[in-house]
Amino acid sequence: MQEITERTKCTGCHACLSACPSRCITMQPDEAGFLYPSIDALRCTDCGLCKKACPVEQEYVGEKALAAYACIANDEAVRAKSSSGGMFTLLASEVLHRGGVVIGAAWDDEGQLIHMVVQKEADLPKLQGSKYLQSRIGNVLKETKAFLEAGRTVYFSGTPCQIGGLKAYLRKPYPNLICQDIICHGVPSPKTWSKYLAYVCETSGKIPAELCAPEFRNKDHGWLGYRLKIGFSDGTSVSRAKGEDLYMQAFLNNYGLRPSCYNCHFKSAERESDIMLADFWGVDKILPQMFDDKGTSLVLVYSEKGKALFDSVKAHMACAAVDPSAALAYNASACQSAAKPKQNELFLRAVESSRFDTAVHTVLKKSAAARLQKKARSLLRRAKTKLCR
Ligand SMILES: Cc1cc2nc3c(=O)[nH]c(=O)nc-3n(C[C@H](O)[C@H](O)[C@H](O)COP(=O)(O)OP(=O)(O)OC[C@H]3O[C@@H](n4cnc5c(N)ncnc54)[C@H](O)[C@@H]3O)c2cc1C
Repeated sequence: MQEITERTKCTGCHACLSACPSRCITMQPDEAGFLYPSIDALRCTDCGLCKKACPVEQEYVGEKALAAYACIANDEAVRAKSSSGGMFTLLASEVLHRGGVVIGAAWDDEGQLIHMVVQKEADLPKLQGSKYLQSRIGNVLKETKAFLEAGRTVYFSGTPCQIGGLKAYLRKPYPNLICQDIICHGVPSPKTWSKYLAYVCETSGKIPAELCAPEFRNKDHGWLGYRLKIGFSDGTSVSRAKGEDLYMQAFLNNYGLRPSCYNCHFKSAERESDIMLADFWGVDKILPQMFDDKGTSLVLVYSEKGKALFDSVKAHMACAAVDPSAALAYNASACQSAAKPKQNELFLRAVESSRFDTAVHTVLKKSAAARLQKKARSLLRRAKTKLCR
C-alpha cells in the first residue's frame, strides 16, 4: 500500500494506524505540524485494511436530525467553564454515573492536546471547553473498542472526522457506543499553537513551564464577547477578545487549518453521530428567552440512543425545542467547509520562519491591501461606466 488516501483528504484520524494488523503505520508530522500516516513498505502486507478503515475513502452516510433544542445547564459553574451551554458536561456526567467511560480532548502532562479516556467525575473538567487545535487520537480508537467489547458504555466526543474515523475503524455498530460530534470550523495544527504560546511567553516575560491550561472561550466579558485567556503559574494571565487575539484572528480567518478542513468530507446537516453539540449562534434572534449572554448550546439529536440520553438529563437544564434547519441557519460551519485564504501558504511559511505576531500581521496586511485594491478597482469600473453613459 503506497498511499491510503490523497494527502489533501486525510484528516489524521488514526483509523488506518489502529486497523493495521502489521503495525507498519506510524503518524508523522508534516512541515505545518499535522500528522499523516507513513507506511513502512517492508512490513506492509498489502492487506488493504487501512483503506477499509479510512473514513474519507467511504461514502458519507449521515442521518436526519430527529429533533433540535436550545439548552442551558442549570449549574452556573458548569456553564461558566463550558464553551456554550454546558451540555457536554451534563451528558458525559450521566454516562459516568451509569458506569460508562467518556472520551474527549484534554491536555496531557506535556501540554499536548490528546484524546483521553475519563472514568471518574473528578476528571471530567479536563475535557470541558473547546480547544481550537487538532487533538491527537493516538491509541484511543483501540481503547474504545476494548471498552465496547467488554460491555462498557462509551461516550465518544470529537470532531465529525474523528467520529468518522472511529466508526470506519469499528466497522460494525455497537449498542453501547454513543457518539457526539460538534459543529467544527476546522482545526489548526499543534505546531501553530505552540508557536503562538512561544510568542505569548516571550512578550509576557514567562517561560513555557509557567503556562497553565488555556481557556479558549473565557466568558468573563460574556459568551458573545468571549476571550482567549492564557494563565501562568504565578496567578497572572493574558486575556484578549477574539477580535484582538492573534491566534483567534488567524483561526477565525481560516489561516493554517488542516488541508482536509478546506474541503471537509463530513460537512452536512445529516450526521453519523447520535448527538451533535454546537454554540447556538442566533439564539438571541430565534429564541430570545434562551439568551442571557452566558452561553446557549444547540443540541441536535440523531438517534433513539442519543434521544434517550438527552431526555435523561433534561431535568438539569432549561430547554426549548426548535426547528433544526432554522437553528443551523446562523451556523455556516455545520454544512460549509472553511474557505482557504489566498495567503494561507504565506502564513504557514511565516509561522515557520518568524515570530507568531509577524506571521499574522504579514497575512492580515496583505489581505487588507488586497481588499483595498479590489474596492479601488470596482470604484474605477463604476466611474468608467458612468462616464461612458
Ligand atoms: C476546533 C473546534 C471548532 C468548533 N467550531 C464550531 C463552530 O464553527 N460552530 C459552533 O457552533 N461550534 C463549534 N465548536 C463547538 C463549540 O465550541 C462547543 O465545543 C460545543 O458547543 C460544545 O459546548 P458545551 O458547552 O456543550 O461543552 P464544552 O465543555 O465546551 O465542550 C467540550 C467538548 O468539546 C470537545 N473538544 C474540545 N476541543 C476539542 C478538539 N480540539 N477536538 C475535538 N473535540 C474537542 C471535548 O472533548 C468535549 O467533549 C467547535 C469546537 C472545536 C473544538
